[in-house]
Amino acid sequence: MRTAGVVVMSKSGNHKPFFSRRLVPCAPDGTLSEFTLRRKVRLDRGGLHLGKILVDPAYLEEFFSYGPILKVRYLTVSGQSVEESLRNTRFRSRRAEAELADAVATAKASWGNRLGSAVLEQQPAVPSTIYPSFGETTGALNGRVRVQLSSAKVAFPPLCPVCCGTASHVSILQVSAGPSERGMWLVPVCERHEVADSIRLEKWRANATELAFSFSQSDYARHFSWANENNDSGGREMPSGRRFIVYSYVFSAVYFSASLRSRVFAIGEVDSRVVPGIRYSLLTFITGWWAVAGIFLSIDALAQNFRGGTDVTDLARRAFEGVPVSAYGVK
Ligand SMILES: [Zn+2]
Repeated sequence: MRTAGVVVMSKSGNHKPFFSRRLVPCAPDGTLSEFTLRRKVRLDRGGLHLGKILVDPAYLEEFFSYGPILKVRYLTVSGQSVEESLRNTRFRSRRAEAELADAVATAKASWGNRLGSAVLEQQPAVPSTIYPSFGETTGALNGRVRVQLSSAKVAFPPLCPVCCGTASHVSILQVSAGPSERGMWLVPVCERHEVADSIRLEKWRANATELAFSFSQSDYARHFSWANENNDSGGREMPSGRRFIVYSYVFSAVYFSASLRSRVFAIGEVDSRVVPGIRYSLLTFITGWWAVAGIFLSIDALAQNFRGGTDVTDLARRAFEGVPVSAYGVK
């Protein structure tokens, strides 16, 4: 039996909130896809309030923060998974990050084992793999190996998809189905390579429940397939001592405006998080302003960069440990 995970509230509830702020809906890496309105997010004993809706903790599939971003994924009345990334914008980025981390820890402690309890009853925790179709490496596939999963959540093995060497860095695998439907995975890579063309997705959609990947390296494809089939990526602890940071930049031309992200930078704990972002800020100064929407996106990108970029270290940690995650959610 499926019951409602989301309750529409007439009032904002009677519990004292652990956290109550307006957050900015964003892509998983913190970039905005358009000029969006802030959303009231409130956490209390009763659950997670997103504007007027209350999500019972039992129906929360994912609830964590990384850097200044709160990521939530919950089941709706119709049994659909909805996922949102929301950014805590403050002048002091470290404060925004600490504030969210505290709020998440307090909420988890308060909700205890209610968190996700209804989800576990209804859904298998293990993503089931269907047909890893090896051997199909000729013709239209140009020597690539195809792997299909019947899951929106994916874990990547801690190996480089380009050279199969041990991973110590992360790279972004970006997926998109139009300007407002974008997602990404952080994929472990070695120090020398970016994901680039080594992993491709066919026809990704935000609400897809089946994913079709193709890989340039057949060994990597085998590891990937095995990892997701057995829910064991061979994941391990992330190399410590560095933080992984992403910066934003903007391109605009009259009717067109796009907020884009840099590659992932690995930055030592004592090094500046602002300096590596300067080149992206300069680029935005030159290319960002040439549309009305671009002005807003540029201001946002510059503010993010000068606050030290978006810290995706906790997301990277999950990638190394092999926690299966989705690229983004259902609108
Ligand atoms: Zn490599």
